[in-house]
Amino acid sequence: MTNAFTPPQSSPPPPRRAPGDEQIRDVVVQVRGQGGLTTQATLHIASLTDRARFMRATRTSALLFGLAVVSLPIPPIHWILVPGFLIAAIVSFFVRIRTDELLEGHVTCPKCHGAFDVESQPPSWPLDQTCHHCKAQLVVAPLT
Ligand SMILES: [Zn+2]
Repeated sequence: MTNAFTPPQSSPPPPRRAPGDEQIRDVVVQVRGQGGLTTQATLHIASLTDRARFMRATRTSALLFGLAVVSLPIPPIHWILVPGFLIAAIVSFFVRIRTDELLEGHVTCPKCHGAFDVESQPPSWPLDQTCHHCKAQLVVAPLT
């Protein structure tokens, strides 16, 4: 049966691509709280290209290197801050260059029903989250 108010059927959309030509796929997850309360959400996982990984790693390392330069003229604590920021810049570069996937999205707390964003991070299941509204401890895992 056709209805004049039914929108025309369209073909499924092609895979979305973010700036930097990253491939994005969606994952349906279950958010579990205490007492067996659950909700579902859809998170997005971006597969980073080599260029995107390099840019992401370089951006963070440049920021840390800048902080090392800024702390140079601060006499007593520059003995700790400058080498600390330089070591952090090198370590963060190698950690971030190896990150090939990033998770993003927002979930709804099963306890208070408040929605909040999941911080951008590499996907490692199960994901431990704290509700931004009621501070409930939540476990996020993909539905299989
Ligand atoms: Zn909550």
